[in-house]
Amino acid sequence: MWFSAAHFAPTLSERQRQNTWRTPQPWCEAQATTISYQGKRLLNFASNDYLGLAHHPDIKQAAIKALRVAGVGSTSAALVCGQSHYHAALEERLATFMGKPKALLFSSGYTANLAVLSTLLNAKHALFQDRLNHASLLEGGLHSGAYFRRYRHGDMAHLEQLLKRQEKPTLVATDGVFSMDGDIAPLPALLQLCQQYNALLYVDDAHGFGVLGAQGRGIAEHFGVPFASLPLTMVTLGKALGVSGAAVVGDEHLIDYLQQFAKPYIFTTAMSPVMAAAALRALELIQEEPWRREKATTLARYFHQEAVRMGYTMAPSNTPIQPLIVGTNGAALHLSHWLFERGVLATAIRPPTVPLGTARLRFTITAAHSRAEVDTLLSLLAQAAATQGVAKAR
Ligand SMILES: *Cc1c(COP(=O)(O)O)cnc(C)c1O
Repeated sequence: MWFSAAHFAPTLSERQRQNTWRTPQPWCEAQATTISYQGKRLLNFASNDYLGLAHHPDIKQAAIKALRVAGVGSTSAALVCGQSHYHAALEERLATFMGKPKALLFSSGYTANLAVLSTLLNAKHALFQDRLNHASLLEGGLHSGAYFRRYRHGDMAHLEQLLKRQEKPTLVATDGVFSMDGDIAPLPALLQLCQQYNALLYVDDAHGFGVLGAQGRGIAEHFGVPFASLPLTMVTLGKALGVSGAAVVGDEHLIDYLQQFAKPYIFTTAMSPVMAAAALRALELIQEEPWRREKATTLARYFHQEAVRMGYTMAPSNTPIQPLIVGTNGAALHLSHWLFERGVLATAIRPPTVPLGTARLRFTITAAHSRAEVDTLLSLLAQAAATQGVAKAR
Protein backbone atom coordinates (compact mmCIF):
# COMPACT_ATOMS: atom_id res chain seq x y z
CA MET A 1 0.00 0.00 0.00
CA TRP A 2 1.31 3.42 -0.89
CA PHE A 3 0.81 4.70 2.69
CA SER A 4 2.40 1.76 4.49
CA ALA A 5 5.49 2.17 6.69
CA ALA A 6 7.58 0.19 4.21
CA HIS A 7 6.74 2.64 1.46
CA PHE A 8 8.04 5.65 3.42
CA ALA A 9 11.01 3.89 5.05
CA PRO A 10 13.61 4.45 2.26
CA THR A 11 12.99 8.22 2.12
CA LEU A 12 12.98 8.55 5.89
CA SER A 13 16.16 6.54 6.40
CA GLU A 14 17.85 8.49 3.59
CA ARG A 15 17.13 11.63 5.62
CA GLN A 16 18.87 10.11 8.60
CA ARG A 17 21.81 8.92 6.52
CA GLN A 18 22.32 12.44 5.12
CA ASN A 19 22.31 13.96 8.60
CA THR A 20 19.32 16.09 7.64
CA TRP A 21 16.75 14.53 9.96
CA ARG A 22 15.16 17.26 12.08
CA THR A 23 13.12 17.20 15.28
CA PRO A 24 11.84 20.05 17.40
CA GLN A 25 13.25 20.16 20.92
CA PRO A 26 10.51 21.24 23.33
CA TRP A 27 11.78 23.82 25.78
CA CYS A 28 10.29 24.35 29.23
CA GLU A 29 11.09 27.94 30.00
CA ALA A 30 12.58 30.91 28.18
CA GLN A 31 13.88 34.37 29.02
CA ALA A 32 15.12 37.09 26.68
CA THR A 33 18.47 35.37 26.02
CA THR A 34 18.18 31.99 27.72
CA ILE A 35 16.18 28.86 27.06
CA SER A 36 15.82 25.74 29.20
CA TYR A 37 15.68 22.15 28.03
CA GLN A 38 14.88 19.56 30.70
CA GLY A 39 16.32 21.78 33.38
CA LYS A 40 19.41 22.62 31.35
CA ARG A 41 19.71 26.35 30.73
CA LEU A 42 21.33 27.53 27.51
CA LEU A 43 22.36 30.86 26.06
CA ASN A 44 20.06 31.31 23.08
CA PHE A 45 21.63 32.42 19.77
CA ALA A 46 18.95 30.78 17.62
CA SER A 47 15.86 32.97 17.94
CA ASN A 48 14.58 35.62 15.50
CA ASP A 49 13.69 37.92 18.40
CA TYR A 50 16.20 40.46 17.05
CA LEU A 51 15.14 43.36 19.25
CA GLY A 52 14.55 41.30 22.38
CA LEU A 53 10.86 42.22 22.44
CA ALA A 54 9.33 38.76 23.01
CA HIS A 55 9.82 39.22 26.75
CA HIS A 56 9.24 42.97 26.97
CA PRO A 57 7.11 43.75 30.06
CA ASP A 58 4.98 46.36 28.22
CA ILE A 59 4.12 43.88 25.49
CA LYS A 60 3.24 41.18 28.02
CA GLN A 61 1.06 43.75 29.78
CA ALA A 62 -0.73 44.67 26.55
CA ALA A 63 -1.34 40.98 25.84
CA ILE A 64 -2.74 40.33 29.33
CA LYS A 65 -5.04 43.33 29.11
CA ALA A 66 -6.41 42.18 25.75
CA LEU A 67 -6.73 38.62 27.02
CA ARG A 68 -9.08 39.84 29.77
CA VAL A 69 -11.41 41.74 27.46
CA ALA A 70 -11.16 39.78 24.20
CA GLY A 71 -10.45 36.18 25.18
CA VAL A 72 -7.81 33.89 23.76
CA GLY A 73 -8.94 33.17 20.23
CA SER A 74 -10.35 35.31 17.43
CA THR A 75 -13.02 32.57 16.98
CA SER A 76 -13.37 32.94 13.20
CA ALA A 77 -11.99 34.30 9.96
CA ALA A 78 -11.56 38.07 9.77
CA LEU A 79 -14.48 38.49 7.34
CA VAL A 80 -16.83 36.54 9.64
CA CYS A 81 -16.31 37.88 13.18
CA GLY A 82 -12.58 37.41 13.75
CA GLN A 83 -11.51 41.03 13.25
CA SER A 84 -11.34 42.79 16.63
CA HIS A 85 -10.64 46.49 17.06
CA TYR A 86 -7.05 45.45 17.88
CA HIS A 87 -6.73 43.89 14.43
CA ALA A 88 -8.23 46.96 12.76
CA ALA A 89 -5.98 49.36 14.67
CA LEU A 90 -2.93 47.24 13.90
CA GLU A 91 -3.68 47.28 10.15
CA GLU A 92 -4.17 51.01 10.22
CA ARG A 93 -0.98 51.72 12.18
CA LEU A 94 1.15 49.34 10.15
CA ALA A 95 -0.01 51.09 6.96
CA THR A 96 0.73 54.53 8.40
CA PHE A 97 4.12 53.40 9.73
CA MET A 98 5.08 52.01 6.33
CA GLY A 99 3.81 55.08 4.48
CA LYS A 100 1.20 53.13 2.50
CA PRO A 101 -2.60 53.47 2.30
CA LYS A 102 -3.55 49.99 3.51
CA ALA A 103 -2.43 46.84 5.30
CA LEU A 104 -3.94 43.37 5.62
CA LEU A 105 -3.18 40.94 8.45
CA PHE A 106 -2.38 37.27 7.93
CA SER A 107 -1.89 34.54 10.50
CA SER A 108 1.69 34.01 9.31
CA GLY A 109 4.23 35.26 6.82
CA TYR A 110 4.07 31.90 5.10
CA THR A 111 0.36 32.27 4.34
CA ALA A 112 0.81 35.94 3.39
CA ASN A 113 3.34 35.01 0.69
CA LEU A 114 1.19 32.15 -0.51
CA ALA A 115 -1.77 34.53 -0.68
CA VAL A 116 -0.02 37.31 -2.58
CA LEU A 117 1.56 35.12 -5.26
CA SER A 118 -1.29 32.71 -5.80
CA THR A 119 -3.96 35.44 -5.82
CA LEU A 120 -2.26 38.06 -7.99
CA LEU A 121 -0.71 35.64 -10.49
CA ASN A 122 -1.89 32.90 -12.84
CA ALA A 123 -0.71 31.23 -16.04
CA LYS A 124 -0.96 34.57 -17.87
CA HIS A 125 1.81 36.08 -15.71
CA ALA A 126 5.54 35.71 -15.28
CA LEU A 127 7.31 35.53 -11.92
CA PHE A 128 11.00 36.04 -11.23
CA GLN A 129 12.55 35.38 -7.86
CA ASP A 130 15.95 35.51 -6.24
CA ARG A 131 17.38 31.99 -5.90
CA LEU A 132 17.75 32.35 -2.14
CA ASN A 133 14.19 33.54 -1.46
CA HIS A 134 12.25 32.03 1.41
CA ALA A 135 10.48 28.69 0.84
CA SER A 136 7.04 30.31 1.13
CA LEU A 137 7.75 32.54 -1.89
CA LEU A 138 8.92 29.53 -3.85
CA GLU A 139 5.83 27.59 -2.84
CA GLY A 140 3.48 30.48 -3.63
CA GLY A 141 5.12 30.86 -7.02
CA LEU A 142 4.71 27.20 -7.93
CA HIS A 143 1.13 27.28 -6.69
CA SER A 144 0.26 30.34 -8.81
CA GLY A 145 0.79 28.58 -12.14
CA ALA A 146 2.75 31.59 -13.47
CA TYR A 147 5.76 31.19 -15.77
CA PHE A 148 8.38 30.99 -13.01
CA ARG A 149 12.16 31.48 -13.15
CA ARG A 150 14.72 32.16 -10.45
CA TYR A 151 17.65 34.52 -10.98
CA ARG A 152 21.08 34.02 -9.44
CA HIS A 153 21.31 35.47 -5.94
CA GLY A 154 21.46 39.27 -6.13
CA ASP A 155 22.39 39.11 -9.84
CA MET A 156 20.68 42.09 -11.48
CA ALA A 157 22.16 41.35 -14.91
CA HIS A 158 20.54 37.91 -14.79
CA LEU A 159 17.23 39.42 -13.72
CA GLU A 160 17.41 41.95 -16.55
CA GLN A 161 17.98 39.15 -19.08
CA LEU A 162 14.83 37.46 -17.83
CA LEU A 163 12.81 40.70 -17.85
CA LYS A 164 13.95 41.62 -21.36
CA ARG A 165 12.72 38.37 -22.86
CA GLN A 166 9.39 38.51 -21.08
CA GLU A 167 6.15 39.80 -22.54
CA LYS A 168 3.74 38.60 -19.89
CA PRO A 169 2.81 40.92 -17.00
CA THR A 170 5.56 40.25 -14.47
CA LEU A 171 6.07 40.17 -10.72
CA VAL A 172 9.54 40.16 -9.16
CA ALA A 173 9.72 38.81 -5.62
CA THR A 174 12.65 39.14 -3.24
CA ASP A 175 13.48 38.68 0.42
CA GLY A 176 14.50 42.04 1.94
CA VAL A 177 17.08 40.39 4.20
CA PHE A 178 17.92 36.83 3.15
CA SER A 179 16.94 34.62 6.04
CA MET A 180 19.77 32.06 5.94
CA ASP A 181 22.53 34.45 4.82
CA GLY A 182 21.72 37.77 6.45
CA ASP A 183 22.59 39.90 3.42
CA ILE A 184 20.32 42.67 2.11
CA ALA A 185 18.68 42.68 -1.34
CA PRO A 186 19.86 45.44 -3.74
CA LEU A 187 16.55 47.30 -3.50
CA PRO A 188 17.39 50.45 -5.53
CA ALA A 189 18.61 48.35 -8.48
CA LEU A 190 15.60 46.01 -8.21
CA LEU A 191 13.21 48.96 -8.21
CA GLN A 192 14.90 50.57 -11.16
CA LEU A 193 14.66 47.36 -13.21
CA CYS A 194 11.05 46.80 -12.22
CA GLN A 195 10.12 50.34 -13.20
CA GLN A 196 11.98 50.02 -16.50
CA TYR A 197 10.20 46.76 -17.41
CA ASN A 198 6.81 47.52 -15.82
CA ALA A 199 7.14 44.70 -13.31
CA LEU A 200 5.54 44.69 -9.87
CA LEU A 201 8.18 44.43 -7.13
CA TYR A 202 7.06 42.43 -4.09
CA VAL A 203 9.41 42.60 -1.10
CA ASP A 204 9.25 40.07 1.73
CA ASP A 205 10.85 42.08 4.53
CA ALA A 206 10.42 39.44 7.25
CA HIS A 207 13.90 40.05 8.67
CA GLY A 208 14.29 43.73 7.77
CA PHE A 209 11.12 45.06 9.39
CA GLY A 210 11.92 46.48 12.83
CA VAL A 211 15.65 45.95 12.28
CA LEU A 212 16.66 48.10 9.28
CA GLY A 213 16.27 51.86 8.92
CA ALA A 214 16.46 54.59 11.55
CA GLN A 215 12.84 54.01 12.63
CA GLY A 216 12.77 50.28 11.88
CA ARG A 217 10.64 50.61 8.77
CA GLY A 218 12.84 48.08 7.04
CA ILE A 219 14.65 47.82 3.75
CA ALA A 220 13.11 50.87 2.03
CA GLU A 221 14.10 53.12 4.91
CA HIS A 222 17.56 51.50 4.98
CA PHE A 223 18.18 52.54 1.35
CA GLY A 224 16.26 55.83 1.57
CA VAL A 225 13.85 54.59 -1.10
CA PRO A 226 10.48 56.41 -0.96
CA PHE A 227 7.70 54.14 0.33
CA ALA A 228 5.44 55.35 -2.46
CA SER A 229 7.62 53.52 -4.98
CA LEU A 230 7.09 50.13 -3.30
CA PRO A 231 3.66 48.81 -4.31
CA LEU A 232 3.55 45.79 -2.00
CA THR A 233 5.61 44.69 1.00
CA MET A 234 5.21 41.81 3.44
CA VAL A 235 6.24 42.29 7.07
CA THR A 236 6.19 39.62 9.77
CA LEU A 237 5.23 40.18 13.37
CA GLY A 238 6.94 37.01 14.63
CA LYS A 239 10.53 38.14 14.19
CA ALA A 240 11.71 41.59 15.31
CA LEU A 241 8.30 42.34 16.87
CA GLY A 242 8.52 39.21 18.98
CA VAL A 243 4.85 38.28 18.50
CA SER A 244 3.38 36.25 15.59
CA GLY A 245 1.44 36.85 12.41
CA ALA A 246 2.19 39.01 9.39
CA ALA A 247 0.84 41.81 7.25
CA VAL A 248 0.94 42.82 3.62
CA VAL A 249 1.22 46.58 3.25
CA GLY A 250 0.65 48.42 -0.01
CA ASP A 251 -1.39 50.31 -2.54
CA GLU A 252 -5.12 50.38 -1.92
CA HIS A 253 -6.29 48.46 -4.99
CA LEU A 254 -3.80 45.63 -4.36
CA ILE A 255 -4.78 45.25 -0.71
CA ASP A 256 -8.49 45.43 -1.60
CA TYR A 257 -8.02 42.73 -4.22
CA LEU A 258 -6.22 40.46 -1.75
CA GLN A 259 -8.90 41.00 0.87
CA GLN A 260 -11.64 40.04 -1.58
CA PHE A 261 -9.94 37.13 -3.31
CA ALA A 262 -7.02 35.68 -1.31
CA LYS A 263 -8.09 32.28 -0.01
CA PRO A 264 -5.33 32.05 2.63
CA TYR A 265 -6.89 35.24 4.06
CA ILE A 266 -10.57 34.43 3.64
CA PHE A 267 -10.66 30.80 4.74
CA THR A 268 -8.55 30.85 7.88
CA THR A 269 -9.04 31.85 11.50
CA ALA A 270 -7.79 35.37 12.14
CA MET A 271 -4.75 35.79 14.40
CA SER A 272 -5.52 35.97 18.09
CA PRO A 273 -6.68 39.37 19.39
CA VAL A 274 -4.06 38.90 22.13
CA MET A 275 -1.35 38.78 19.48
CA ALA A 276 -2.81 41.78 17.66
CA ALA A 277 -2.79 43.82 20.89
CA ALA A 278 0.77 42.69 21.65
CA ALA A 279 1.89 43.63 18.13
CA LEU A 280 0.33 47.08 18.50
CA ARG A 281 2.50 47.74 21.55
CA ALA A 282 5.55 46.20 19.87
CA LEU A 283 5.08 48.52 16.90
CA GLU A 284 5.22 51.50 19.27
CA LEU A 285 8.31 50.12 21.00
CA ILE A 286 10.34 49.72 17.84
CA GLN A 287 9.89 53.48 17.42
CA GLU A 288 10.29 54.44 21.10
CA GLU A 289 13.42 52.37 21.68
CA PRO A 290 15.72 52.80 18.68
CA TRP A 291 18.68 51.74 20.85
CA ARG A 292 17.56 48.15 20.34
CA ARG A 293 18.32 48.32 16.62
CA GLU A 294 21.66 49.98 17.19
CA LYS A 295 22.67 47.50 19.87
CA ALA A 296 21.74 44.40 17.85
CA THR A 297 23.62 45.73 14.82
CA THR A 298 26.72 46.79 16.76
CA LEU A 299 26.94 43.50 18.67
CA ALA A 300 26.42 41.50 15.47
CA ARG A 301 29.22 43.39 13.74
CA TYR A 302 31.52 42.76 16.71
CA PHE A 303 30.68 39.04 16.68
CA HIS A 304 31.28 38.86 12.92
CA GLN A 305 34.70 40.52 13.11
CA GLU A 306 35.90 38.35 15.97
CA ALA A 307 34.74 35.11 14.33
CA VAL A 308 36.50 36.07 11.07
CA ARG A 309 39.64 36.81 13.07
CA MET A 310 39.54 33.23 14.41
CA GLY A 311 39.56 31.94 10.85
CA TYR A 312 35.89 31.08 10.54
CA THR A 313 34.06 31.54 7.24
CA MET A 314 31.29 34.00 7.99
CA ALA A 315 28.55 34.88 5.50
CA PRO A 316 28.95 38.54 4.42
CA SER A 317 26.21 39.93 6.67
CA ASN A 318 25.73 43.30 8.41
CA THR A 319 22.48 42.24 10.05
CA PRO A 320 21.75 40.33 13.30
CA ILE A 321 21.72 37.11 11.21
CA GLN A 322 25.29 35.84 11.38
CA PRO A 323 25.78 32.48 9.65
CA LEU A 324 29.03 30.62 10.21
CA ILE A 325 29.57 28.39 7.17
CA VAL A 326 30.81 24.96 8.17
CA GLY A 327 30.41 22.91 4.98
CA THR A 328 29.21 19.38 5.56
CA ASN A 329 26.04 18.45 7.40
CA GLY A 330 27.98 16.27 9.81
CA ALA A 331 30.39 19.08 10.73
CA ALA A 332 27.55 21.55 11.27
CA LEU A 333 25.69 19.09 13.50
CA HIS A 334 28.87 18.30 15.41
CA LEU A 335 29.59 21.96 16.17
CA SER A 336 25.97 22.57 17.12
CA HIS A 337 26.01 19.61 19.57
CA TRP A 338 29.42 20.61 20.91
CA LEU A 339 28.10 24.10 21.71
CA PHE A 340 24.88 22.66 23.17
CA GLU A 341 26.90 20.58 25.63
CA ARG A 342 28.67 23.76 26.69
CA GLY A 343 25.48 25.76 27.23
CA VAL A 344 24.94 27.52 23.90
CA LEU A 345 22.03 27.06 21.51
CA ALA A 346 22.71 27.65 17.81
CA THR A 347 20.94 25.66 15.15
CA ALA A 348 22.61 23.81 12.32
CA ILE A 349 20.98 24.80 9.04
CA ARG A 350 21.36 22.10 6.42
CA PRO A 351 20.23 21.40 2.87
CA PRO A 352 17.61 21.60 1.47
CA THR A 353 17.20 24.86 3.43
CA VAL A 354 20.63 26.00 2.12
CA PRO A 355 22.68 24.85 -0.90
CA LEU A 356 24.54 21.54 -0.64
CA GLY A 357 27.95 21.83 1.00
CA THR A 358 27.12 25.10 2.78
CA ALA A 359 25.66 23.71 6.00
CA ARG A 360 26.00 26.38 8.64
CA LEU A 361 25.37 27.49 12.15
CA ARG A 362 22.96 30.40 12.01
CA PHE A 363 23.74 32.64 14.97
CA THR A 364 21.41 35.51 15.69
CA ILE A 365 22.68 38.35 17.82
CA THR A 366 19.88 40.32 19.45
CA ALA A 367 19.43 43.56 21.36
CA ALA A 368 18.81 41.51 24.51
CA HIS A 369 22.26 39.89 24.44
CA SER A 370 24.98 41.47 26.52
CA ARG A 371 28.51 41.91 25.29
CA ALA A 372 29.53 39.36 27.95
CA GLU A 373 27.14 36.77 26.49
CA VAL A 374 28.55 37.31 23.02
CA ASP A 375 32.05 36.96 24.49
CA THR A 376 31.04 33.65 26.08
CA LEU A 377 30.03 32.41 22.64
CA LEU A 378 33.22 33.74 21.07
CA SER A 379 35.47 32.04 23.60
CA LEU A 380 33.71 28.74 22.94
CA LEU A 381 34.20 29.25 19.21
CA ALA A 382 37.90 29.94 19.80
CA GLN A 383 38.09 26.69 21.75
CA ALA A 384 36.26 24.83 18.98
CA ALA A 385 38.64 26.20 16.36
CA ALA A 386 41.59 24.97 18.41
CA THR A 387 40.26 21.56 19.39
CA GLN A 388 37.49 20.57 16.98
CA GLY A 389 39.10 21.53 13.69
CA VAL A 390 36.07 23.43 12.43
CA ALA A 391 37.60 26.75 11.40
CA LYS A 392 38.62 27.11 7.74
CA ALA A 393 36.30 24.22 6.96
CA ARG A 394 35.87 25.49 3.42
C1 LIG B 1 10.10 33.61 8.54
C2 LIG B 1 9.92 34.04 7.14
C3 LIG B 1 8.68 33.96 6.52
C4 LIG B 1 7.50 33.30 7.19
O1 LIG B 1 6.99 34.08 8.19
P1 LIG B 1 6.17 33.37 9.36
O2 LIG B 1 5.40 34.46 9.98
O3 LIG B 1 7.18 32.75 10.25
O4 LIG B 1 5.30 32.34 8.70
C5 LIG B 1 8.54 34.46 5.26
N1 LIG B 1 9.60 35.00 4.61
C6 LIG B 1 10.81 35.07 5.16
C7 LIG B 1 11.94 35.67 4.40
C8 LIG B 1 11.02 34.57 6.44
O5 LIG B 1 12.21 34.59 6.97
